[in-house]
Amino acid sequence: MLYRVMDASELPRLIDAFMEKYEVVAPVKSGRSFAFEPVSSFDEIVLDYPTTLTSLKKYILPPRETLFEFNVEDADVTDYTLRIRPRVLFGAHACDINALNNLDLVFEDARYPDPYYEAHRAATMVVGINCSPAGSCFCHLLDADEVRSGYDLFLQDLGGRYLVSIGSVEAANILEAACDLREATDEDRREFRRLTRERQEAFSNDIPDIQEIPMLMDAFHKDAFWAELGERCLSCTACSAVCPTCYCFDIADVLDPDGKTGRRERILDACTSPQFALVTGGHNFRETARDRVRHRMYHKLNGFNSKHGRYLCVGCGRCVRACKADISPIEVLRFFERKGAEDA
Ligand code: SF4
Ligand code: SF4
Repeated sequence: MLYRVMDASELPRLIDAFMEKYEVVAPVKSGRSFAFEPVSSFDEIVLDYPTTLTSLKKYILPPRETLFEFNVEDADVTDYTLRIRPRVLFGAHACDINALNNLDLVFEDARYPDPYYEAHRAATMVVGINCSPAGSCFCHLLDADEVRSGYDLFLQDLGGRYLVSIGSVEAANILEAACDLREATDEDRREFRRLTRERQEAFSNDIPDIQEIPMLMDAFHKDAFWAELGERCLSCTACSAVCPTCYCFDIADVLDPDGKTGRRERILDACTSPQFALVTGGHNFRETARDRVRHRMYHKLNGFNSKHGRYLCVGCGRCVRACKADISPIEVLRFFERKGAEDA
């Protein structure tokens, strides 16, 4: 990895340089919260934002996306990927970049690569920025508070200057053309280490650090805890909607009223929806909210891990704030803590 230092006053020039070729999406104030939205000037961007309400997922895996359009009469199919815009996702936190990396493992699986996802990813640059943990953040407990790949640039604020990790040649060329860069000094490295320690100490101690989570998920699979969560769950699917790593989808062919033209759509789905596992014949193999909530948590904290060696949940805390029934991975960690205390 290549590191350079740039003066903070040069950031607007970097944004302008990106805007020459790319749509720039960045964190902006949105009502009482923050959101990733396209911006037209540096002044709109909020750099020290807390976690946004929804994630960057919508720019790589839109909630509803036309995959292609067809015309039955002349047997014509429009290649959708031609309309994908080159884009820079600017100001992503480490957990959100780790979330994209997790989605890559699913959609860029060499055996079944998803061409639509790949087209978005190939047209997208990611520029990360360091953050300060909010009370509901627990990325550090799931090894997602730092990111080592999956970005083109990562900016670490050192106060008046940024230590920039450079992850791609394309981004390096734009950065070098737009800004005066210098080599990192020992003083920069010392400041980086000090700020990293400070950040690690800023995480809430209220969220228990549980070891062997996948094993505990198996051990307590039949515990009454899941039924209690199921009774509280409203099946509203808000948790999946805000989650940067929920990726289940449905496919629908939509025919226009003329019966000749139409489109194939991908629509994001949610395993917490009562219809999600309903199959032809009326059988629902996850009929109760208990089964659905448990399944979601298992995928986040056990199933994905056994296949890919890391948690699907990146501890961003979005579902903690979105769920009206106080159901989240943090509740699961607290349950394991209680169980540990009972056994002690
Ligand atoms: S499960 Fe919740 S905390 Fe984990 S990545 Fe999804 S929204 Fe974030
Ligand atoms: S866990 Fe919470 S957010 Fe998710 S479906 Fe149930 S009530 Fe809704």
